[in-house]
Amino acid sequence: MIDQSRSVQGIGMTSARTRDRLVQRLKDNGIKSEAILNQIRNVPRHLFVDEALASRAYEDTALPIGLGQTISQPWVVARMTEALLDGFEGETVLEIGTGCGYQTAVMAPLVKKIYTVERIRELQRKARQRLRDLDIYNVEFRPGDGWEGWRKYGPYDGIIVTAAATELPEKLLEQLAPGGRMIIPVGPTGCQDLLQVTRCNDHFEQVSLGTVSFVPLVHGT
Ligand code: SAH
Repeated sequence: MIDQSRSVQGIGMTSARTRDRLVQRLKDNGIKSEAILNQIRNVPRHLFVDEALASRAYEDTALPIGLGQTISQPWVVARMTEALLDGFEGETVLEIGTGCGYQTAVMAPLVKKIYTVERIRELQRKARQRLRDLDIYNVEFRPGDGWEGWRKYGPYDGIIVTAAATELPEKLLEQLAPGGRMIIPVGPTGCQDLLQVTRCNDHFEQVSLGTVSFVPLVHGT
């Protein structure tokens, strides 16, 4: 028998109605992009968490994904994607902190190519498999230290960091294309400033988007 709760469509607490409620909540909380709201509706978040947590997958909350890591809160995923892609005319995005791959899956159809870096190989392996199962093919995965970025394919039109940095990573700034934009939480454990950093001709412009709480961007692999 097919286990419906693990299917892409979902039933009960993973059904279309449950997802619509989440989308409405994000709208009420200021998310405007229809393309991003559609992605939140369509990406089966219940397949990115443990089966035991599937019934909570469409709550607007972060959830544990094992190995001390979390899947980001849907509102935060939507907000960061909106901040990255509003007026975006580029093609390539570097993502640091693949985790379960949910943010990657939400972004994937909205950009040409995503390069994503994760330091925990087991998470990366599972994320790669999930995205393949969902027929997402414009993502390249790399195990490694996100503080280093991924120089080979840079510079990138956009960079999104989904773990908290203690300061702006120098190498990520270097790998940002002229006019490119980076979204990154910066600050101490438990409370960070979500920053939007734009590379202008000879300087970087920085705007604060509010307070967030991410797991730390660890040094080394
Ligand atoms: N993007 C995920 C959330 C990721 S949680 C989502 O969609 O839900 C943050 C992730 O960053 C974790 O998986 C953690 O292992 C990873 N991480 C932490 N430090 C890192 C580093 N230096 N390089 C790469 N990944 C890192």
